[in-house]
Amino acid sequence: MRKKRSLGQNFLTDPAIAEEIVAHAQIEDGGTVIEIGPGPGILTGLLLERCGKLIALEIDPKLCHLLNKRFKSNPKFDLHQRDALVYDYSQAGGRFQVVSNLPYYAAMPILKRLIHYGSHIANMTLMLQREVVDRLVAQPGSRDYGSLTVFTQFHCEVERIMEVGKKNFDPPPKVDSSVIRLVPRSAPPVEVDNLKTFFHVVHAAFFHKRKMLKNNLKSLAKHFDFTWQGIEDAGIDPARRGETLSLEEFATLSNLMESKTQ
Ligand code: SAM
Repeated sequence: MRKKRSLGQNFLTDPAIAEEIVAHAQIEDGGTVIEIGPGPGILTGLLLERCGKLIALEIDPKLCHLLNKRFKSNPKFDLHQRDALVYDYSQAGGRFQVVSNLPYYAAMPILKRLIHYGSHIANMTLMLQREVVDRLVAQPGSRDYGSLTVFTQFHCEVERIMEVGKKNFDPPPKVDSSVIRLVPRSAPPVEVDNLKTFFHVVHAAFFHKRKMLKNNLKSLAKHFDFTWQGIEDAGIDPARRGETLSLEEFATLSNLMESKTQ
């Protein structure tokens, strides 16, 4: 079958790696799993052996035809020819797990959408470009730490699980991959008075990555009545860069801004 590059069709070829990914996913006996982009089904067969119901979302009609041929006789298999970017995940009913080797062109918007539906999701085991995973798991002070890191770690616990080299795909992509496990949080990890303000501050702090807070936060003066002294008194040196601030410190900064809303 001709693979469509535009749909991120780099298929995993090593069954041992597929086994390892599914083992890490810790599929709950009898539970519902959503697989995004099953492709020809290297993960699908293994997931069906373990779960109670598999909702498979595949955008490509040719692959849907192939998947139906392989798995239609299995009553657990529930295939939808759908775009994972617009699918309403709340219709899956109850809580579910997500397992996917994501199409890289749409990985970030799909991940953001899944996080939006986090209250429905027990956990997600996702394969992504290695450099994206580097950003998702980054710690303050590292080069990869940015607003995507803060957004993801605010909403989910994240853990890098395994590395998969590009030679394990057909066709091989240009970059290596990593598998990550995300567990949506039931409560925020830090106390935030206003979520909108929190992310407003985070985005401002990273606007120019190499600049100090003193420069990046100037744009907030239109919305909040803060002083540099006030920020210093809250324990944050305005000469620091946004990339050094922990989630707690972003919460401190945003709660301070919120208390000074104009
Ligand atoms: N799961 C297979 C594997 O591991 O080999 C295929 C993974 S391949 C990287 C990504 C799959 O996602 C392809 O089958 C592609 O057709 C499908 N896909 C691409 N965009 C999609 C979208 N927006 N919604 C659902 N599936 C999509």
